[in-house]
Amino acid sequence: MTDLPSLRETLDAHGLLAKKSFGQHFLLDLNVTRKIVRLAGPFEGRAVIEVGPGPGGLTRALLESDAGPVVLVEKDPRFIPLLSELDDGSGRLTIVEADALKVKEADLVSGPAHMVSNLPYNVGTALLIKWLTGPWLPHSLTLMFQKEVAERVAAGPGDDAYGRLAVISQAVCTARIVMHLPAAAFTPPPKVASAVVHLVPLDERPSPERLKKLERVTAAAFGQRRKMLRSSLKQLGGAELCEAAGIEPDVRAETVDVAGFLRLADALA
Ligand code: SAM
Repeated sequence: MTDLPSLRETLDAHGLLAKKSFGQHFLLDLNVTRKIVRLAGPFEGRAVIEVGPGPGGLTRALLESDAGPVVLVEKDPRFIPLLSELDDGSGRLTIVEADALKVKEADLVSGPAHMVSNLPYNVGTALLIKWLTGPWLPHSLTLMFQKEVAERVAAGPGDDAYGRLAVISQAVCTARIVMHLPAAAFTPPPKVASAVVHLVPLDERPSPERLKKLERVTAAAFGQRRKMLRSSLKQLGGAELCEAAGIEPDVRAETVDVAGFLRLADALA
């Protein structure tokens, strides 16, 4: 990796400029991408999927790491030739030109893998929900989001950012913000600051049916987050549902922990 031209030189050589429609904000400082990869690992030879490699700053750091196979999923065809330059022919790197919202991760790797991504902000939340609720569950997910979204993933009860995304994320994984990055760390800089969230699946993952019920309960409860549960959950059973779940009906959604929401989901008919 050390013999390669800098990421900026590579972008210039290929005449590539960031496209807004693809949510492109690049990390061109390899010290930053190496740090993210250190926070994501160790990989101990397991496969890593990277969504949205763009010019390949995170990819270079992944290829320097203890990752096994590295599979890239990039939607913008302009980056494929540039990414191919990172392939040493050993078979370790696979480049897939595809929309990450549509790919089946199980078709990309055999067995469990880690997911590392500086996510396109316009589809970041949709991708996270896909990975949390879909049939394929990674070993870990290390994902760059807008700071505000990262906070919504990792928040706990009582935090302003605590809501549906935190409950769904933490019903499936532990979630921790491991790094903050100012807008100036990216080229071009986005309007907002960013943060990296590290998620590790829990040993016991809720079944897809249980997750669907959890989504129904959290949508109703946080849809009217200033109301007491007895009224925000009225359509689903109101006070009776709360009592069946051992939750006080006069509290608001923001005070109920993930275990409480899972009990509410289980009490649903
Ligand atoms: N990983 C690079 C970095 O850190 O410099 C680029 C990050 S940039 C925020 C997001 C990348 O995701 C871009 O390369 C963009 O083309 C790609 N992308 C956008 N939407 C995508 C999608 N639906 N599926 C796969 N890649 C996508």
